[in-house]
Amino acid sequence: MAQRLPGLLVVLSGPSGVGKSTVAARLLQHPDYVRSISVTTRPIRAGEQEGRDYQFVSRETFEGLVAHGELIEHAQVHGNFYGTPKEPLRRAIALDQVMLLVIDVAGGEQVRARDLDALLIFLLPPDKAELARRLQGRGTEDAKQQTVRLHAAEVEMHRARAVYDHLVVNENLDRCVEEVHALVTAAREKLKDRRDAGELLYPGLKPQPE
Ligand code: 5GP
Repeated sequence: MAQRLPGLLVVLSGPSGVGKSTVAARLLQHPDYVRSISVTTRPIRAGEQEGRDYQFVSRETFEGLVAHGELIEHAQVHGNFYGTPKEPLRRAIALDQVMLLVIDVAGGEQVRARDLDALLIFLLPPDKAELARRLQGRGTEDAKQQTVRLHAAEVEMHRARAVYDHLVVNENLDRCVEEVHALVTAAREKLKDRRDAGELLYPGLKPQPE
């Protein structure tokens, strides 16, 4: 039987409205993919479930995780703290799974700075007009907010070019999902060659205080 490909940490980012969650949901239908569950200090909301939506933790616990280098990346959003824990990634890698992380570029930059074999993919809209149309189509932002988001999207794209491995245009959902999956598979094949050559993968997953 063919040996399974090694696990991989995959970061998926892109401007608001580009379709990240849809692409992620499609990839997660594949049995090799698992979603990262973040830890947060934000209070649980009605309808949310501990361990499914987030791992809800105290500020003290969160700070402990940071101090012990147990978060791959973290951020403060609207006064609450969010982070990606290492432990589920250790389990995923042990099971040769692909762990999918949907985070912003600042988070992607933190992942890149870690000693991890991560694949960073940034989704791009076909063009700016299309992004504006999709934001309008969503109907969740008024005109001013849309302008702010479009500007933020441009700044993010600029930063992503410097750090991300691939920029993938999401013009057609099926094609975009296929393209991302092909990039993931190619990266896992490269990792397999390195593993077969005796290299220790994911050195950054070892416990290491910051
Ligand atoms: P919410 O509180 O509405 O669930 O999320 C607020 C924001 O936190 C969203 O923009 C979400 O993308 C971001 N967020 C959630 N989890 C993480 C995480 O693990 N890392 C980072 N960097 N941001 C996160």
